[in-house]
Amino acid sequence: YSTATALEEEPIKPAVQVEHTQLLIGGKFVDALSGKTFPTLDPRTGEVIAHVAEGHSEDVDRAVAAARKAFDQGPWPKMTAYERQRILLRAADLLEKHNDELAALETWDNGKPYEQSAQIEIPMLVRLFRYYAGWADKIHGMTVPADGQYHVQTLHEPIGVAGQIIPWNFPLLMFAWKVGPALACGNTIVLKTAEQTPLSALYAAKLFHEAGLPEGVLNVVSGFGPTAGAALASHMDVDKLAFTGSTDTGKVVLELAARSNLKPVTLELGGKSPFIVCEDADVDQAVELAHFALFFNQGQCCCAGSRTYVHEHVYDEFVEKAKARALKRIVGDPFKSGIEQGPQIDSEQFEKILKYIRSGVQSGATLETGGDRLGSKGFYVQPTVFSNVEDGMLIAKEEIFGPVQSILKFKDLDEVIERANNTRYGLAAGVFTKNIDTANTLTRALRVGTVWVNCFDTFDAAIPFGGYKMSGQGREKGEYSLKNYLQVKAVRYV
Ligand code: NAD
Repeated sequence: YSTATALEEEPIKPAVQVEHTQLLIGGKFVDALSGKTFPTLDPRTGEVIAHVAEGHSEDVDRAVAAARKAFDQGPWPKMTAYERQRILLRAADLLEKHNDELAALETWDNGKPYEQSAQIEIPMLVRLFRYYAGWADKIHGMTVPADGQYHVQTLHEPIGVAGQIIPWNFPLLMFAWKVGPALACGNTIVLKTAEQTPLSALYAAKLFHEAGLPEGVLNVVSGFGPTAGAALASHMDVDKLAFTGSTDTGKVVLELAARSNLKPVTLELGGKSPFIVCEDADVDQAVELAHFALFFNQGQCCCAGSRTYVHEHVYDEFVEKAKARALKRIVGDPFKSGIEQGPQIDSEQFEKILKYIRSGVQSGATLETGGDRLGSKGFYVQPTVFSNVEDGMLIAKEEIFGPVQSILKFKDLDEVIERANNTRYGLAAGVFTKNIDTANTLTRALRVGTVWVNCFDTFDAAIPFGGYKMSGQGREKGEYSLKNYLQVKAVRYV
């Protein structure tokens, strides 16, 4: 891997200062009531970037009270949709203006390549807020015909205080997917960031206040899952919960929501997405796309194409080329230009990935390349490729969330459909073929929320995303996401 030696050099200093480490409650940065903090680490070295206020249940109470007050008494839900739209557009302008600082914070805290943060993710975030700003003044109910003398209308009203819990793999994009639709509909928010990546959301939320967002509308609490996260999920005064993270934690928050006040819950959870390379595929293109589908973002994507099914006629050629491509992957300090892969998020994920690699070897899969850590510090993992993977192996069943590609062989379409669907997950799938009939058959047969045909990991603010089966409930992005944040009131007049 081309830059292995450079990993021993001093890490590049990010061109940004950490300005905000406190909780953002009621429009002000405040310490946690306990006074506690926790360190957030640089994945390149494992060293501390900053100490961040650690929110607990009493801080969640304060944040929910601020959001409640802003909803019940503040100007936000009552202002004209046009005014709300203008605030969102101003916020998008400020996010755009601060693109480089946001990107640097994101890369520093998360380890993803800076060019990916600066050129793809922050622009997507800006676009997403502009998209939802566009919806703000287009949300309205219907007139419904009824028997008799009634005039019936539906009102689409904001649901109230939204609790939102997000993961660390795309901190700002997850912030945007949650905050964008909730604000467009006139709700107020308490958002809990992931403990691995608290920094960028605090910066972004401050920009919303600069844009004129009234105090208490968007509160950000840093902290851990079982404390701050659970307090939010089980809060009696939170009207709606949106969660992104692992399937196991999804079950926990759903139960907490049910046991408290039955708040409705949307869930975006894990996946084990198939990427199917058909017999007629151009092998070079398929290899490149399958590589991207798995290795993008250090393999830390919920929708990663982590089961690469390849037709037997092109299998051997595919494996050889997939190995060569992984060997060419440029791994190194994510602040360096041209880097394709940075470190994994933290030691826990790093150890988990190495454990899965050992399991792959033990279960008899062929380790084509990689398989170990890279460098001696931080959480870098070698791009790893397994061939001769069988459906029953752990590496083919469980979410690895790392740069480990598993290549499986198939004979015909019926077989691959059955195998691709034989999983508890149903988030996404990739299909690589030149035949429109094959594409049609697969797109209809696969039980997943997104099918990418001859492309992968392309996202758009307007296109819904979410899972079938244990990959989640509900959809985010697009018009579909608005439903998560609206109540429908039926009004009859006679
Ligand atoms: P995680 O479930 O451990 O954590 C996600 C969030 O939940 C964090 O903010 C965490 O603090 C919080 N949390 C943890 N325990 C909690 C509890 N008991 N109560 C309330 N909140 C709690 O997941 P992770 O390891 O941070 O993220 C990786 C996982 O997220 C992967 O499985 C991945 O597939 C999934 N993910 C899914 C999507 C999607 O859109 N479907 C997107 C990104 C990540």
